[in-house]
Amino acid sequence: MVKTVDAETPAAVGLLERLVDINSGTMNLAGVVRVKDVLQPQIEALGFTVRWNPMGKLDGRAGDLVAEHPCPMGPGKCGKRLLLIGHMDTVFDANSPFQKYEIVPGTDGRVATGPGTGDMKGGLVVMLDALRAMKAAGVLKDTEIRIVLSGDEEDAARPISISRKDMIDAAKHSDVALEFEDAFRDGGLDGKDAVRIGRRSSITWHLETSGKSGHSSVVFGDKLGYGAIYELARIVDQFRTQLREPGLTYSVGLVLGGETAVLDSEKTGGTATGKANVIPPTALAVGDIRTLNEGQTARVKKAMEEIVSKHLPLTDAHISFDEAYPSMAVTPGSEALLAKLQQVNATLGYAPEEVTDPAVGGAGDIAFVAPYVSGLVGVGAMGTGAHAVGEVVYLDSIPKQAKRMALLMYRLSEEK
Ligand SMILES: [Zn+2]
Repeated sequence: MVKTVDAETPAAVGLLERLVDINSGTMNLAGVVRVKDVLQPQIEALGFTVRWNPMGKLDGRAGDLVAEHPCPMGPGKCGKRLLLIGHMDTVFDANSPFQKYEIVPGTDGRVATGPGTGDMKGGLVVMLDALRAMKAAGVLKDTEIRIVLSGDEEDAARPISISRKDMIDAAKHSDVALEFEDAFRDGGLDGKDAVRIGRRSSITWHLETSGKSGHSSVVFGDKLGYGAIYELARIVDQFRTQLREPGLTYSVGLVLGGETAVLDSEKTGGTATGKANVIPPTALAVGDIRTLNEGQTARVKKAMEEIVSKHLPLTDAHISFDEAYPSMAVTPGSEALLAKLQQVNATLGYAPEEVTDPAVGGAGDIAFVAPYVSGLVGVGAMGTGAHAVGEVVYLDSIPKQAKRMALLMYRLSEEK
């Protein structure tokens, strides 16, 4: 498997360039389909049955690629049943100035830049590279593997019950999930490779407050009370002082208030009017919460609701939470999987991987399958600068990760 990966590296890097040069911003549905069209025959050539589930009519996104490699001896008879997760979209839309794959000058050809190089077209290449090595070694045939690649990881369609159905269904028939998102290398190009076994959630909240309006000279009085902006300020300040706990963050991203306050449809801006001498009747804020586990999510939501409910005189307030990206908590199952990965590192002569704090980095698709399977987060290509123009991938990480994943998947398929 190691020899195959080494021999295939130039082809793997060529495939990465080809994939990166196709714009596949989440809302560029045709671009996501073009990425799928490149991947599908390569996955089929490995012996998988590939199904394309178009979602344009269903949820306004391109769709999911779903592939299955059945165990020839019957379901569940090829060791651990594996689920490989990834996505074909990027955050860079069709009008982005960042469109092409390029080697970064002055890096001896070791670093490439381009939209999605790390997040996560590099990971798609790692996945294919590992499976190809298993096939060449004759060990792919006795495996049970499902692949689900979403077309909208960077901006998942709601409801989640539609947009993540393929992934969740596959998880129900799997034991282990490997998520080929970009991975960290601590210290940069020549730093230490890292992996994660947990991911935090990402939840957006909306707060609206209201109050009586009138002349500011009687604010705090019996007739008009405190106004909507003091109520909003009370709430966000009590959030700041009362909710803190390890691993949890919550932030206020946007505030509007006054005589009028209207959020725009994108929820990234809006308009407000008001006067210095008028008590404001309306205010709103938008923010997020990131949690380590679902218990923490429930706890912080309840505490926020309690703070919101203790209104200042003659004001009202209401908080709502959007359908979230859940958390993937660290579990004994994922810790056991990590131990197996470290054994793989030892076999390959690699240093043990560092384990990145789940508080670092964003939410991801693996959290949707975490209730059903143990998993590793970020076993794809390593690089830096994801989601920003100038994102890079460390090209040596592609064969390195492919070797790790080929050996790990093989060993998992040999387990009872
Ligand atoms: Zn990603």
